[in-house]
Amino acid sequence: MIKKILLSEGLGLFEQHPCLSGRQGCRPSVNIILLSVLCWLSFASGCSHRPYYKESRVMMGTIVEITCQDKYAISAGFEEIKKIEKIADNFDPSSEISRLNQDGHIKASHELIEMVRESLKYNSLSDGAFDITINPVVALWKERIRDGQYEKVDVGLPSEEEIKDRLRLAGSDKISINEDESSIAFNEPGMSIDLGAIAKGYAVDKAMARLKERGINSAMVNAGGNIYCLGTKGKRKWRVGIQHPRKPQNLLFTLELENQAAATSGDYQQYFIVDGKRYSHIIDPKTGYPVNNKVISVTITAPTAAQADGLSTALFVLGKEKGEALAKNIAGVKAMIIEEDSQNVSRN
Ligand code: AMP
Ligand code: MG
Repeated sequence: MIKKILLSEGLGLFEQHPCLSGRQGCRPSVNIILLSVLCWLSFASGCSHRPYYKESRVMMGTIVEITCQDKYAISAGFEEIKKIEKIADNFDPSSEISRLNQDGHIKASHELIEMVRESLKYNSLSDGAFDITINPVVALWKERIRDGQYEKVDVGLPSEEEIKDRLRLAGSDKISINEDESSIAFNEPGMSIDLGAIAKGYAVDKAMARLKERGINSAMVNAGGNIYCLGTKGKRKWRVGIQHPRKPQNLLFTLELENQAAATSGDYQQYFIVDGKRYSHIIDPKTGYPVNNKVISVTITAPTAAQADGLSTALFVLGKEKGEALAKNIAGVKAMIIEEDSQNVSRN
């Protein structure tokens, strides 16, 4: 069912993290906070008597926050995030993904195989809109984002020829996973993948699993807007504010989550502008150009953070109509899609 929510229902203001801007400049291709979050760490009545601890670290190119009532569990959660970062970091030449991209094959960890397998699932569900093999094209656009957005240099667009050349390398059907040998191989030289659209969500799930193993039943893990909320916070659900995509000081709406994940994909953190037109970091694999379908923000709530992360990117590319149709068919998933110039948000 589609319900309209007025933008003016946003609940107040939030502070953005200024320390991100430097890192964005250095490593623009790693996903930055797409969804700015305010969690009300309220210690007022209604909350459990034990205090909550919140620790933030810069990891995976963003700010990762873990909140729970056990300080030691927080460190264990960060260990898991670190592990996934070490696997999926395109900027670290020794990471598994970099070695795969360089050699075209790898004896892979269980986690890399799981992330690639999950990505192939979203590729098929979205009819190719979600595609980790779009990386060579993404890299072409991200160079411009780095120079245009962060260095404030006038950048032109890549030529159609450049885009076509790189687009030829893409295609998720050219990835082979050999489960028996725990290996991944590309079927075409020059291919490469980028897990930026799913790795943070996956890492959140892994961190949450570690917390649960330690008996934690109330916690929130937030990796740059890829969130999982475990249990409740005292007697209330966890409350998460979603940033307005065009008025960064405003919240668009507030989610109340319990044993649920949320993620947002948008065009407002990584982009550059040429002749008044915005070019963002999410690429339509059918054209090789940044998505141009009026959608400016997609928020997904889902049973797992990897699902929310993958689907928010997939729906951003698919657009409102096809995106909503896809979300409706997946159990436990809800999508909130915002289009440019629209004064309302559709939810299904
Ligand atoms: P997210 O912020 O989760 O929507 O992920 C966006 C990131 O995913 C981009 O910064 C790229 O690294 C990568 N990406 C861009 N376009 C696509 C696409 N069509 N499918 C999968 N990953 C993409
Ligand atoms: Mg994503």
